[in-house]
Amino acid sequence: MAVNGFGTIGKRVADAVSKQPDMTLVGVTKTRPSFEARRAVEKGYALYLAASGSKSEFEAAGLPVAGRLEELLGQVDIVVDCSPDKVGKENAKLYREAGIPAIFQGGEKADVAEASFNALGNYDACRSKRTLRVVSCNTTGIARAVSVLAPRWEVDGWSVTLVRRASDPAETKRGPINGIMPTFQLPSHHGPDVRTIFPELAIATTAVVVPTTLMHVHVNDVHLRRPPGGTAEVLAAFRATPRFHLFAGWERVEGTPQVMEYARDRGIGFNDMMENVLWEEGVRLDGSDLHFFQAIHQESIVVPENVDAIRAITLPGVSGPASIEMTDRALGLRTTSGPRS
Ligand code: NAD
Repeated sequence: MAVNGFGTIGKRVADAVSKQPDMTLVGVTKTRPSFEARRAVEKGYALYLAASGSKSEFEAAGLPVAGRLEELLGQVDIVVDCSPDKVGKENAKLYREAGIPAIFQGGEKADVAEASFNALGNYDACRSKRTLRVVSCNTTGIARAVSVLAPRWEVDGWSVTLVRRASDPAETKRGPINGIMPTFQLPSHHGPDVRTIFPELAIATTAVVVPTTLMHVHVNDVHLRRPPGGTAEVLAAFRATPRFHLFAGWERVEGTPQVMEYARDRGIGFNDMMENVLWEEGVRLDGSDLHFFQAIHQESIVVPENVDAIRAITLPGVSGPASIEMTDRALGLRTTSGPRS
């Protein structure tokens, strides 16, 4: 496979694919020389030119170039587009011309692909498609949680307030650096995006942006039609589901700084936290109403989903749970059927 666009998401997807026993990364693209292009070369990834990238510019930086994007597309079964928001739609034409399937990211509109994808949410419906869009970080986090609650206890209504990080850590041109900024789109676009996976879900979302780079936090209020017996049952369901990480009270994880310190300590991926993070003390069932917080590491949560989307398209005989298990084992995440690899 190929990764087109080797930035925050692309470099992580490339590494994740390289770790899978059934996938081969043929090459990645860059538009300009940068530290990330240098790291691609240092990791042994073949570097191709995207968009108006110039070979002489890379050669002047001492970075070998294997060819242009079009040549890379000629050698692969599938491409994962990780270019900036809205650029994927332009790139889609190139993939169609090359006659290869493609995966897009959440910065594209839903109509860029045949279906929106979330591994726990709608893997089966996405098998054998030729194009998929892995939904955004926030939508991925919500879709995973819906996959736990809806089949067990029937969701009557779901309200989420998204407390969004202002920028990724390496971005310096976004803000705020001091302020809490309401998003004056009421409700926010995240609810309709979740419905690209769960069309029937009664969900409304609102968002505020705050000056942090670490993670988003979702404040969830869910009304359940057939509620469980107590909070412990809800916690057990989250615990039994892959891609959820629960912190106990005694771990003293007070907020996102400690979550990301744990991630650095653990050292998976780019010191990432690819799971939905829940606090056991931050989940409470009150009759039919479930309240819980979850934290979402925006830079990495979609990475395992991209790996599964590749399998859903190219290996339709593999089931969703089998793909999730394979992906997570190779990445070093907790698997629900056995110890870490
Ligand atoms: P990024 O800016 O970090 O990386 C994009 C890369 O694509 C850069 O290296 C850029 O040089 C390159 N590029 C620019 N033009 C290109 C072109 N024409 N063809 C190929 N590559 C090109 O962006 P990102 O954060 O990795 O976002 C990529 C996609 O993933 C977007 O759709 C975004 O919405 C989505 N996404 C981002 C996050 C996040 O928090 N960063 C989370 C989930 C989803």
